[in-house]
Amino acid sequence: MADCIFCKIVQKQIPTEFLYEDDNLVAFRDINPQAPVHFLIVPKKHIANLLELKGEDFPFLSGVLKAIGELTHKLGIHEAGFRVVVNTGDNGGQTVPHLHFHVLGGRFMGWPPG
Ligand code: 5GP
Ligand code: ZN
Repeated sequence: MADCIFCKIVQKQIPTEFLYEDDNLVAFRDINPQAPVHFLIVPKKHIANLLELKGEDFPFLSGVLKAIGELTHKLGIHEAGFRVVVNTGDNGGQTVPHLHFHVLGGRFMGWPPG
């Protein structure tokens, strides 16, 4: 999608180091980290939000679980724990309308979220 910042990152129009990549997704560090470890997992295809996922996107979803497993180990947050967040819509606090899974770790996080 032309004006989408995450599509531009996926297409390397905005230079960003990828921590992980497969056929359907990329992962990269959040530009404004909210924890010592904070990365985003983003589909290569433009999908606006969680509700726009279709049956054909299930390989992407299983890839997300694989990426979470590999990157939490690689970045050393698997034992202490971490949080996965998908902000959706206005009340959910979504600011970039291209689906992304936040993975945050390296500190204790309270509940409920703000
Ligand atoms: P949301 O608020 O939609 O759940 O999350 C969007 C996230 O994308 C924010 O945490 C924000 O810091 C991050 N972000 C926005 N623009 C960029 C960018 O150009 N590069 C990177 N690496 N992260 C970005
Ligand atoms: Zn996009």
